[in-house]
Amino acid sequence: MHATLTFLGSGTSMGVPTLGCSCAVCTDAHRPGSRNRRTRPSILIHYNHHNVLIDTGQDFHSQAVRENIQSLDAVLYTHGHADHTLGMDDLRPLTFGKSAGLPLYADDATANVIERVFEYTFRKTDRYPTSARVTLHRLDTAPGTAIDLFGARFLRIPVTHGRDTIAGYRFGSAAYLTDMSDIPAESLPLLQGLDILILDALRREPHPSHSHLANSIELVNRIAPQRAYFTHISHDLDHQTTNATLPDNIHLAYDGQQLTFDITSEVSS
Ligand SMILES: [Zn+2]
Ligand SMILES: [Zn+2]
Ligand SMILES: [Zn+2]
Repeated sequence: MHATLTFLGSGTSMGVPTLGCSCAVCTDAHRPGSRNRRTRPSILIHYNHHNVLIDTGQDFHSQAVRENIQSLDAVLYTHGHADHTLGMDDLRPLTFGKSAGLPLYADDATANVIERVFEYTFRKTDRYPTSARVTLHRLDTAPGTAIDLFGARFLRIPVTHGRDTIAGYRFGSAAYLTDMSDIPAESLPLLQGLDILILDALRREPHPSHSHLANSIELVNRIAPQRAYFTHISHDLDHQTTNATLPDNIHLAYDGQQLTFDITSEVSS
């Protein structure tokens, strides 16, 4: 089954331009159409007449306007950090027609953050009538935990994010591993036979909770997808000059970039 993946945001938690910064990349990011302009990280997957979103950062509203998102059918969460969850409230108008609630999928740690931050949404009594109509489904954290949605299967891929282990997802021939410093050995078999691998590549220098450029290139070489795209990028990496130094099958992602792939294929064993 044919699917389209859109990078809603390809930036790190502070976004690019970074507030208060006047470096060359941040300066260029003010230019309309600049590929250095990076909003908070999220992707949209469209297939079989359905839209599945991964994460809702602070920029979800402007991303949805930019990409003309008219409806959503499910949201998967990677972890509870602000740049991945704080846009949840902006889902409201896209949930109003859904009597069963828009399904959100998250592990316990992430679901606890969402329930705490957006407490008013989940109240049993005294609920605002205009709160988001969402249903939070708690996911097992085991590698390969499957979520079947609209004819495709999403697999949880545990990744190391500093001191935490959080969720990446594989769906057909593509995998999205944002916010990761390393990939545990038990996750590697779930990443075989990929067309598209999307990985965190924050900057050039190592960072305690995010992979850096050289480490991400090394991971691509080890996992050997057909093509790889880097995301969660800071103002350290200029789009054009960095892309020019990367191997032919590796690219920096940019906001609004679309990729097509096959979402049917199962994990090859
Ligand atoms: Zn993040
Ligand atoms: Zn800067
Ligand atoms: Zn994070």
